[in-house]
Amino acid sequence: MDAEHKTKDRNAHVIVAGAGIIGVCTALALQRDGLRVTLVDREAPGMGCSYGNAGLLHAGGCIPLATPDSLKKLPSMLMDPEGALRIAWRHLPALSPWLLRMAAQARPDRVAHNIRALHALLKPARHLYDKLFRQTGLQHLIRSGGELHLYRHQASMQAAQWGMGVLREKGITVQDLDAASIRELEPALDKAFQHAHFLPDSDMITSPHQLTQGLANYFAQQGGTVLRGEIRSVRPNPSGGTDLQVDGQTLHASSLVLSTGAWSGQLTQQLGVRVPLQSWRGYHIMLPRGDLSLRRVVVDSDHHVAVSPMVDGLRVIGYLEFAGLKAPADSRRSHSLLKSAQRLIPDISGQITSAWMGHRPGTPDSLPVIGPLPGHPSVYCAFGHGQLGLTLGATTGQMIADLVAGRQGAIDPTPYRVNRF
Ligand SMILES: Cc1cc2nc3c(=O)[nH]c(=O)nc-3n(C[C@H](O)[C@H](O)[C@H](O)COP(=O)(O)OP(=O)(O)OC[C@H]3O[C@@H](n4cnc5c(N)ncnc54)[C@H](O)[C@@H]3O)c2cc1C
Repeated sequence: MDAEHKTKDRNAHVIVAGAGIIGVCTALALQRDGLRVTLVDREAPGMGCSYGNAGLLHAGGCIPLATPDSLKKLPSMLMDPEGALRIAWRHLPALSPWLLRMAAQARPDRVAHNIRALHALLKPARHLYDKLFRQTGLQHLIRSGGELHLYRHQASMQAAQWGMGVLREKGITVQDLDAASIRELEPALDKAFQHAHFLPDSDMITSPHQLTQGLANYFAQQGGTVLRGEIRSVRPNPSGGTDLQVDGQTLHASSLVLSTGAWSGQLTQQLGVRVPLQSWRGYHIMLPRGDLSLRRVVVDSDHHVAVSPMVDGLRVIGYLEFAGLKAPADSRRSHSLLKSAQRLIPDISGQITSAWMGHRPGTPDSLPVIGPLPGHPSVYCAFGHGQLGLTLGATTGQMIADLVAGRQGAIDPTPYRVNRF
């Protein structure tokens, strides 16, 4: 079937499973191609991981989790009770095969490949979002201003030089700042910060939830269907396509997109394909902004904690926790996030207005899974975006629309295929 024909198939009904930022952007891209699209989620759009992220549209997010340096630091980070990384020991048997795969990705040739593949996705990301913002009228949610990575000592700045060097090689602007320049950009920060890396080309979304919700509303206004329900089973239909059990009803999809974030492995498994996906759990607390001025996302690189100025207050973000999808959130995290925020910004409010934990969908090589599911040519994967899901929403949507239409897109999808594992 040629691309034109595929796109214009009047009977085509695409179901997009999962209404996080990835699913919503994908549904919109498919709708733009003239397809009949239903978006299914057990919750309202944008209530999963896409609800609580730091809001960064990363200019320089191409450093994967697995590098020789990160593996070296792993034991000391795990031993530190106040550390940003935690493994729930009860989860270790289930996690171990994934960890071994991740460790294998720290080989220099794999690191170089993963950096290249992430950079290829990140390069067009802002341009594709700009098109989407213009189309949907959501420009007011984007704020320019860059991101600031802060260090108390020369040694900790030195430790970050390798990653920043990689970004510079890729053409991303990284400026070295001294204490006076830091103060000029963000006067509210603690005076202990003597050094910083400034990435002026990163932008932020001031309400990730309003973004996903706004995009889903636009999709519905344009005739798309948003259906609330739990997808309980997915099964190939002998005459083609896929049948889904969504609570009490059966839906038929001529094409199905799996964008159920960290939960996607459960659905691929029903179709006989195992994908190594782990939840990289992260936390945030919200604090009132008061009259404190903060223009951009600031990162305490010594303690791996960030503060983002959101529309509804200051969001303090941190932690990478391996504890699976079922364990409850660790309530001690809120207090440690508050302590870290006070070390970063001494005058920050101490009143926590809400606390949240979410599941980043993480692969061993830090690359998302984008492409058809082996053995199921009409089922497409769009998950596993780890730390970059917000940034890569529009990019992933475009890539899936190209694949469904049989078009050759601007990005070669090979590095993200499912059967790379
Ligand atoms: C603390 C933190 C900070 C972050 N900061 C950033 C950042 O600054 N920039 C950035 O780019 N990224 C960031 N991320 C990552 C980003 O938030 C995620 O990569 C992204 O939200 C993943 O989007 P998604 O649509 O794949 O998943 P989700 O948003 O989790 O959406 C998946 C949806 O699938 C639904 N679902 C699952 N199973 C089923 C089922 N069986 N039936 C029906 N529905 C189902 C869920 O309800 C959910 O709504 C951060 C993440 C965290 C945790």
